[in-house]
Amino acid sequence: MSNPSHPAYKDTQLLINGEWVDATGGRTLNVVNPATGEVIGRVAHASIADLDRALAAAQRGFETWRRVPANERAAIMRKAAGLMRERAPQIAALMTQEQGKPLAEAKVEALSSADIIEWFADEGRRVYGRVVPSRNIAAQQLVLKEPVGPVAAFTPWNFPINQVVRKLSAALTTGCSIIVKAPEETPASPAALLQAFVDAGVPAGVIGLVYGDPAEISSYLIPHPVIRKITFTGSTPVGKQLASLAGLHMKRATMELGGHAPVIVAEDADVMLAVKSAGAAKFRNAGQVCISPTRFLVHNSIRAEFAQALAAHASSLKVGDGLADGTTMGPLANPRRLAAMAKITEDALSKGAKVAAGGERVGSKGNFYAATVLDEVPLEADIFNEEPFGPIAGIRGFNTLDEAIAESNRLPFGLASYAFTRSLKTLHELSQRLEVGMLWVNQPAAPVPELPFGGVKDSGYGSEGGPEALDAYLVTKTVSVMNV
Ligand code: NAD
Repeated sequence: MSNPSHPAYKDTQLLINGEWVDATGGRTLNVVNPATGEVIGRVAHASIADLDRALAAAQRGFETWRRVPANERAAIMRKAAGLMRERAPQIAALMTQEQGKPLAEAKVEALSSADIIEWFADEGRRVYGRVVPSRNIAAQQLVLKEPVGPVAAFTPWNFPINQVVRKLSAALTTGCSIIVKAPEETPASPAALLQAFVDAGVPAGVIGLVYGDPAEISSYLIPHPVIRKITFTGSTPVGKQLASLAGLHMKRATMELGGHAPVIVAEDADVMLAVKSAGAAKFRNAGQVCISPTRFLVHNSIRAEFAQALAAHASSLKVGDGLADGTTMGPLANPRRLAAMAKITEDALSKGAKVAAGGERVGSKGNFYAATVLDEVPLEADIFNEEPFGPIAGIRGFNTLDEAIAESNRLPFGLASYAFTRSLKTLHELSQRLEVGMLWVNQPAAPVPELPFGGVKDSGYGSEGGPEALDAYLVTKTVSVMNV
């Protein structure tokens, strides 16, 4: 049912020293459309020799870029943002073919990258140092903020552009160069993002893009002396490995890892608002979102009503090829997720949960799984303990707010959380006591670039939004000058 007017999917090369090149030796990996299971293209698989060239280019690129004044860097970034806006429809169609999300969601992602780039471009012009009053009147004490150096960024397949653009923009605006290891499963849309920066005039070597074997690339880049900072978005187990390696080599690191967001629906909540907001947040991108709501903790007085309404919302979604008109939920991005959804559902049912909606694969071609709502989920079910990273919501009742807060904080994750209530007192309690990086109240998540974005506990450290996102790419130098 795909629309023939959408652009043909293209093979993706590596971006090294300002040029798009095949891998040395010509090795490639297949790219598969998750809606059809068909191979739609190839992506270059970098060798160590390619990484060496990318590293040398990043070192030279850093020496050039750090000397470009912040306002000129901002002007180039703004141009890239304009190109992303112009090209968003074509880029969105590439993203849907490789990742599966509905075209409308892909367009929002491509367009919002322009907004993110512009915010970072402006913020980079406000990287102020300090003048510190001296204890000796003849001395002047300065605190300077400098770019940390060449960055290695590792990004996942769920938001092929968004996960790159936050890292790329923070690096560029602070004067760093960056090598991005983008996802092999969804390579064309991040390549289109980097192309916009190349076309906008970012000098050769400042940005690089590689694909290949993720473990091989990270174990080569992280210890490499050229690389000064690591940033990773992905699962907690991989994040812990990469953070250990970064620690061993004394590299700065930002880790944006898994989550298991609780949704507290209090006794006084607007139930339909909670269903609409948390339901939209749950099934966006087929639940493959680190801030996706998963543990729905609903006051027992309204649990049955809420479960019924969330199930109706889930059943109303139109699951299909993201390019087809009217699709509101696409396939899962890869067969691993499909197998994981079946296992999670089976486990919950065997432990006594009830299926209120979905609970099964849709069709036999492509990675489609129904929007699923499980009610009366026992605490020991996998869905209440492991990140599902898919379209499954689990519901449990609670009696007191203390109980809901304790359950929210029980898991080692601490990324996003949601709450629905009309009570100021409840809000006050939640904002003080939830162990999370983000709390959205009476609304779905709205992760705009000016707000910090990141987690605590096993969800990682560092932030990918707000001024904190720039701090992660800056080092501090103290200069004290005695007037002799
Ligand atoms: P995975 O753990 O194999 O990989 C997650 C990401 O890390 C992928 O992009 C992968 O290419 C990359 N990766 C894996 N090993 C690596 C290594 N040694 N060095 C560098 N990068 C490496 O899992 P998966 O099956 O691809 O994804 C499923 C899980 O990943 C989910 O359950 C979820 O927890 C997590 N995930 C999180 C996010 C997020 O936004 N935080 C995004 C995608 C996936």
